Amino acid sequence: MNTNNEFFRVETDDDGVATLTLEMADKPVNVFTQGSLEAFEAAVTSLIDDEAVKAVIIASAKPVFHVGADLAMAQEMSARAAPELFTDIMRINSLFRRIETGGTTFVAAINGHALGGGLELALACHARIVANNDRLQLGLPEAKVGLMPGFGGTQRLTRLTPLADALPAIATGSPFSPAKALGLGLVTEVCEPDQLLAAAKAWALANPKATQPWDRKGYKLPSGAIHSPANFQFFAGASAQYRKNTGGHYPAPAAILDAVYQGLQMPIDQALKVEARRFVSISRSIVARSMIKTLFFGMNDANALVRRPAEPPKHSFKTIGMVGAGLMGGGIAYSAARAGCDVILIDTSMEAAERGKAYSERLLDKAVSRGKLAAEKRASHLDRITTTTDFAALAKADLVVEAVFESKDVKQTALKAIEAAVGPTAIIASNTSTIPITELAAFLDAPERFIGMHFFSPVEKMPLVEIISGKLTSSTALAAAFDLCQLLKKTPVDVNDGRGFYTTRVVSSYMIEGMALLREGVSPALIENAGKAAGMPMGPLRLADMVNLDLAVKIADQTKADSGDAYVEHPGIAAARQMVALERLGEKSGKGFYQYQDDTRLWPDLATLFPLSSDQPDASAVTDRLLMIQAIETLRCFDDGVVKTAIDADLGSILGWGFPPHTGGIASYIDQETPSRLLEKAERLSKNAGARFEPPAGLRKLVNDNVSLHAVMA
Ligand code: NAD
Repeated sequence: MNTNNEFFRVETDDDGVATLTLEMADKPVNVFTQGSLEAFEAAVTSLIDDEAVKAVIIASAKPVFHVGADLAMAQEMSARAAPELFTDIMRINSLFRRIETGGTTFVAAINGHALGGGLELALACHARIVANNDRLQLGLPEAKVGLMPGFGGTQRLTRLTPLADALPAIATGSPFSPAKALGLGLVTEVCEPDQLLAAAKAWALANPKATQPWDRKGYKLPSGAIHSPANFQFFAGASAQYRKNTGGHYPAPAAILDAVYQGLQMPIDQALKVEARRFVSISRSIVARSMIKTLFFGMNDANALVRRPAEPPKHSFKTIGMVGAGLMGGGIAYSAARAGCDVILIDTSMEAAERGKAYSERLLDKAVSRGKLAAEKRASHLDRITTTTDFAALAKADLVVEAVFESKDVKQTALKAIEAAVGPTAIIASNTSTIPITELAAFLDAPERFIGMHFFSPVEKMPLVEIISGKLTSSTALAAAFDLCQLLKKTPVDVNDGRGFYTTRVVSSYMIEGMALLREGVSPALIENAGKAAGMPMGPLRLADMVNLDLAVKIADQTKADSGDAYVEHPGIAAARQMVALERLGEKSGKGFYQYQDDTRLWPDLATLFPLSSDQPDASAVTDRLLMIQAIETLRCFDDGVVKTAIDADLGSILGWGFPPHTGGIASYIDQETPSRLLEKAERLSKNAGARFEPPAGLRKLVNDNVSLHAVMA
C-alpha cells in the first residue's frame, strides 16, 4: 500500500515492510490534529488489513519524531462535554490497541524528540529503535502544563519500566535520554542515526506478528504485583511527596498517581479507560486551561517575538559589550558567548573583569565534568570572552549591556564612557532593576538608542527578560532588544517605563507586605508558610533576605529622594531599616530574617525585635493578603501604562518571580478571583491594613464594565 497526504506518506517495499513517514506539511513539527489523526487511523487500519504488509515502520522526515497532540486541538477538545471528550479519547486508545493486537508488527524508528502523544504512539508499537543522540528526548511532558497523558502513557510506561523511574517522570514531565531509556527497558535498541531505518526493518523482519508483553500470558509488571508491601510503601511515599511538592495546587500529579495505581491492577483495556476518565477531568480543569494558555500559547507567542516592531529587519549580533562583570554581567557574558557572540567584558579592574569570566569557567567546568559538554567547546566558549578595563574595546560592539552597581551616579559614569566608545549604530541597554530608563537616558547624547533589558539571576537559568522602553527609546532599539532575547533563548516581555518597571515593583510588594505583617506582630513562621501555601516559591521574608535588605532600604531612600513630598513610606520598610541597623543584611551577610550558619532557619530573636501579637490571624487571611497586594500592584501597573497586555503580566509573573504557575499568572489569578470579589477585599483591606490596598481605578472600571482583565487587555 502506498499513500501520500499532507500528514505522512506510506511506501511498502518488496519484503512487505511499509514505512509510514510522518511529515506534516504546514507545521514545524509532527503533531496530532483532528485531520492528521483521522488520516492516520485510516492508513493504520488499511495497513493492518493488507495481507501483503507484514510490518509497519513509523518514521519521521522532520528533525523531531512526534510531539503529540497539538495543544490548540487539546484546548478545543477540553471545551467539549465530558462524555464526548471521553469518546474521542477512547477512539484513539482503540486505534493504538489495534496497532498492538492487529497481527502486524509495528516499529517506531525514533530519529528525534518523541514527546507526549508522540511517545505514547511509540509505546503502542512493538519496538522502539532510537537514534543515538544525547539531545533527543523521550518523555511525557503533559504535567508541565497541568495536563496528564491520555493516550495510554501512564499505563504503558509503567508496564515497561520500573515504577520508581516511570512515575516521577510522568508526574513531573521530565524526559529520558536514549541511553537512560535503553537501560530502563523503555526502548528496544539505540543505533547510529544513519542506521535507524535499517535497524527498524531488521527488528520487524525478525519479529513477525509481534505482540506486546502485557498481551502475553504470564506477563508480570517490572516492579512486581501492585499490592506487594514494597509497592504499597512506594505509593504511600509518592502520594505524600507529590502533595508536598505541589501544595495541593496541581490536580494532574494526583490524577496520574491514581490512574497508575488503579490501572496497574487491571488488564490494559480497562486500565486505558481509567486513564481516559482521569484525563477528561484534568483537561477540563481550570489549572490545565490556565497553564496551557500562558505557558504554551503565551510563551510561544513571546518567543516568536509577536510584539517586536516589524521594522527594522532582524539584527545580527557579532559582538556584545558587557560593562560590569559582577553577578549579572558574568551571567550575561556567559549566555552571549554561548549563543556564539564575541563578548567584551569590562570592569574597573582586570581582577574584577576576570572574576566575571570565571563565572563562565565554573559553569563550563561543571558541564564538562558531567559529560554534557566537550572540552573543545569549553575552550571556544571561553575564547569568545575578552576581559579588559579599556572602554575603547567597545568600538566594535553591536550592543552593549550595562550592569554596574544599582546607583544612578555609577551608572551615569559608565553610560557616558560607553557612549563615547561605541560606534554610531550601537544599541546601549541597561540591566537596572529599578531606575527609570528615561532618567538614565538623560545621561546620553543619543537617548533613542537606549533601552532597559532586565535579566534575572542566575542569568543562565532564568528564562525571562523584561524589556523596558524609555520615553525616547526608538523602535530600532526595541527591535534589537527583542532580537537579542531570541538569540539568547530568553522569553521577552516588553513594558513601559516606571520605577521598578513591572516585575521588581510587584515582587517587592510581596516582600514588603511580609515585613509589614511582621511589624504588626504576625508570627514569622505563619507569614512564611502563608506565602508558600499560596504557591509562591518561598516566603516573603526569605525572598527579602535573598535580595538583600540593604538594597530594600537603598531603593526606598532613592525613591524618597526622587519623589520628594509625594513619598509615603511603606510600613514594611521600617522592618528592613531595623534589620539593617543590626547589620543583619540578608543572606549575603549570613544573617537576616533567617540565619544562615549550619542550616537555614528563621532567626529565633525575631520575636524580640517584632513582638508577637496575642491575636494571630488565620493562615488563609495572611495568604490572601500576600496575593492581594501583588494583584493590586499589578492592576496599578496597568493603570500607569507600565504593563501592556494581560498575557505579558501572566508570563512576567510566572517566569520573573515565580508567581504560582497553577493560576496561569497574576492576570489570570485576577480574572479567576473575579474583579468584583477583589474589589470587595481591597476595600476591606484598605480599611484594616493600610491605604496601599486602596482599589486601583482600573479595578473599579473592570467591575463597572463587568469584564475580565484578559478581555480588555488582550
Ligand atoms: P555586582 O555588584 O555583582 O556587580 C557590579 C559590577 O560592576 C562590579 O563588578 C563592579 O566592579 C562593576 N562596576 C562598577 N562601576 C563600574 C564602572 N564604572 N565600569 C565598569 N564596571 C563597574 O552587581 P549585580 O548584582 O551584577 O547587579 C548589576 C546590575 O544588575 C544592577 O543594576 C542591578 O540592579 C541589576 N540586577 C541585579 C540582579 C541581581 O539579582 N543581582 C537582578 C537583575 C538586575
